[in-house]
Amino acid sequence: MGRAFCYVILGGGVAAGYAALQFIRLGCETAAQAGEFCIISDEAVPPYERPTLSKGYLFPEGGARLPAFHTCVGANDQLLDADWYREYGIELILGTKVISVDVRRKTLDTSAGETISYERLIVATGARAVKLEEIGVNGGSDAENVCYLRDIADADKLVRVMRSCPAGADAVVVGGGYIGMECAAALVANRMKVTVVFPGKHLMANLFTPKIAEFYENYYESKGVTFIKGTAVSSLQISSGKVTAAILRDGRRLPADMVVVGIGARANTELFEGQLAMEKGGIKVDGQMRTSDASVYAVGDVAAFPVKLLGGEVRRLEHVDCARMTARHAVAGALEPLGPITGEINYVPFFYSRVFALSWRFYGDNAGEAVHFGDLDFSASPSPPSAPKFGALWVRAGRVTGAFLEGGSPEEYEALARAVRRRTTVPDVAVLLARWGLAFIVQDQEGRSGATRSGRLCGSGNTSNYAWAWHATVGVAAAVSIAAFAYWYGWKAPYLAKRHF
Ligand SMILES: Cc1cc2nc3c(=O)[nH]c(=O)nc-3n(C[C@H](O)[C@H](O)[C@H](O)COP(=O)(O)OP(=O)(O)OC[C@H]3O[C@@H](n4cnc5c(N)ncnc54)[C@H](O)[C@@H]3O)c2cc1C
Repeated sequence: MGRAFCYVILGGGVAAGYAALQFIRLGCETAAQAGEFCIISDEAVPPYERPTLSKGYLFPEGGARLPAFHTCVGANDQLLDADWYREYGIELILGTKVISVDVRRKTLDTSAGETISYERLIVATGARAVKLEEIGVNGGSDAENVCYLRDIADADKLVRVMRSCPAGADAVVVGGGYIGMECAAALVANRMKVTVVFPGKHLMANLFTPKIAEFYENYYESKGVTFIKGTAVSSLQISSGKVTAAILRDGRRLPADMVVVGIGARANTELFEGQLAMEKGGIKVDGQMRTSDASVYAVGDVAAFPVKLLGGEVRRLEHVDCARMTARHAVAGALEPLGPITGEINYVPFFYSRVFALSWRFYGDNAGEAVHFGDLDFSASPSPPSAPKFGALWVRAGRVTGAFLEGGSPEEYEALARAVRRRTTVPDVAVLLARWGLAFIVQDQEGRSGATRSGRLCGSGNTSNYAWAWHATVGVAAAVSIAAFAYWYGWKAPYLAKRHF
């Protein structure tokens, strides 16, 4: 038997870093100094902000490097480097894979041959990249110039391969999701000729509407990217350990100096199969992030939890904000009865991406009717807009369920998040949203028409109230709209383009 800890965090990614900080914030300094906490990770470095790997890390010059993006700088919080963990007495067991777990005995076996025991376990094992073999393309994953992107070792390989290619070399990106999109933008910045191949009809098919996807596809094409949709890579031609071409199902052959694969992720649940309840490809937890075993919590990508906003529907969300929030929530729960009494988690799904000089955010659920606003069409312009602003609201049963915005200000993003959280009522989708778009949401946050709307929702509003509200809404919306337009016209977003994580 090896070491014994009160609290063990299994996994050393985003959620682990935020969990560690939360333990200290909730007053566990003394316990930490007494050696009650540890993080076990098969990565060689302390927790870091994983999204940086597909953004600032891939910049052609002056890219982000550790220790600059350890957690929790992504949430504008403290930077937890190795010294921080040392100072607080949280044991970092790095470069160590946990190979088996016995939930009943509360023990973990590590690749170093140690058996570690715990009283409470927080599972933060995240997810891993789906490999080409898993979609029937054999023999390419180990090639010198085939790259995945999940951890820092992958990112180092990607940078190395990219830099070994001459300007104008051919890069094939397999997959049209966010990894594919972000890597394609990075490859362009690194002067590669990029072709993106994916089987769907448009980019980011799980989130984007066809109209939103069209904007980004046009934008990417204006930067020289080629899209091949509706087909997939069926095999890779390899010579001397390197891929030389990708062969598509429809028979086309794409020359390739390098290949980047972004075809999805799978949660790392294997250690707990048959021991904990599973759902949606992850470990099932309750509103306190507690698994079917009372001493085990699960957070981040690996956790499937009830989303109150969606009527308690269980979801597994592979988003960094979710990892942060679920980690904080689980720690508060794990500390009970010593810590604060935690309620059920009330999380608004939130996801973002940054590519080229663009930056978007999405809140909620993309269910219902999508109503677009802003200018998504630049086909008549000679070049793409330098600071585009557009988006969509998803409305179901007269209420906002989801919101997407490209190029928003912090205040506008906050307004969107609040509209989704409150499930703002939309009296007339066609007129209000299509015509006033973002201004409709922003003015709603100022509370000028909210009361009347909710009165109407409850059936207590009368016609004159509604007419008054309508005119007030339109008046305010017009004013905000004009102000928003003026603001937008002179708007620049250097902080978004330059941010590394
Ligand atoms: C390249 C990239 C870019 C991203 N960009 C965005 C973005 O722009 N916006 C966004 O919202 N989300 C983004 N994400 C998603 C986000 O990073 C994840 O949702 C987040 O990292 C999940 O945190 P986690 O702690 O659950 O898992 P992870 O951060 O993946 O951490 C899991 C950790 O567990 C370790 N581990 C797993 N199994 C074991 C084991 N058996 N023994 C020991 N250690 C183990 C892993 O090595 C890893 O350290 C991105 C993800 C990637 C890969």
